[in-house]
Amino acid sequence: MPGYLTVAGLDAAVQHLVATYPDLCHPVILPEPSVEGRPIHALRLGARRAPGPRGVFFLAGVHAREVVNPDLLVSFALQLCRAHAARRPLTLGRTTVPAAEVQALIHDLDLYLLPLANPDGRAWVQAPGGDPMWRKNRRPAPASSHCAGVDLNRNYDFLWATRLGASARPCQETFSGPAAFSEPETRNVRHVLDAHPAIRLFVDLHSFSESVFYPWGDDDDQSEDPSMSFENPAYDGARGKPHDGGYREFIPPEDRAWFLATAGAVREAVAAARGTRYAVTQSVGLYPTSGCGDDYTYARARLGQAGKVMAFTVETGREFQPPYAEAAHIITEVSAGLVAYCRAALALAGSP
Ligand SMILES: [Zn+2]
Repeated sequence: MPGYLTVAGLDAAVQHLVATYPDLCHPVILPEPSVEGRPIHALRLGARRAPGPRGVFFLAGVHAREVVNPDLLVSFALQLCRAHAARRPLTLGRTTVPAAEVQALIHDLDLYLLPLANPDGRAWVQAPGGDPMWRKNRRPAPASSHCAGVDLNRNYDFLWATRLGASARPCQETFSGPAAFSEPETRNVRHVLDAHPAIRLFVDLHSFSESVFYPWGDDDDQSEDPSMSFENPAYDGARGKPHDGGYREFIPPEDRAWFLATAGAVREAVAAARGTRYAVTQSVGLYPTSGCGDDYTYARARLGQAGKVMAFTVETGREFQPPYAEAAHIITEVSAGLVAYCRAALALAGSP
């Protein structure tokens, strides 16, 4: 995979950011190493600790074979820091973020970046003799099986026990693990949300399909009946059948409107950079799922566990591992989309 950063290269990029821009890039300590003992690194980008609910959390590298997105997040951080330090505009393809806006993003937001949630998986994807199409983490095979790995994006505590779009069998690509949050890699993501309640927006970068997804992922959305929701056990067994006219997941109408407006702005920003038209779709449009990071994050407020965090999944590009020249274009255009998310976060926080 020429051009893509190795696990060590991504670690070095994070260290470089912290060392070069100590006033802007702050290490965020994660409580746990990976299953195989690798450290997992996160960063907070911000010139000061912005007061109020001004946190944005960008996550990448959950699925091992989706190799563009970790490089994308460190590139995004580097470009923002360079432009900020030089007080220059940031050019992303055919678009430009004005110098004043670059300053505002760094001064008025706290950007939490976790570029490589699953370093063991990436190491296995990139290893000679490894598996370039590996998706899961590298949890050793249980005694009952010869298959390693848990699908981290089925391991969060959202309708986990339903195993909708997930499997209880370790040899399956979507094995959701022995319990919700059984994996250190997903517990680290939860920790970032727990430890930083100022976070109001979460974006999980995956590949591929050139799409912006908003909740929910378990069934069709509806805004009429708040009691028809994932919290209500009366509907256990009814979820996960979209277009059946039965169960649909409750979403407040104002949230749905905000998701659509923000996803639309992201789509426009990506298109302006290179002309690529991303689709805007409810997550269930792909297939019904449980245990995903976006639904879990958005659901936390409903469960009384936290303030409300608006959550998206973005599926970048048209293949898992494009030639690096194409990956570089994807990095540019999706970075423009991330700037659009930052603008939405500023607006959400009531910034002028
Ligand atoms: Zn993925």
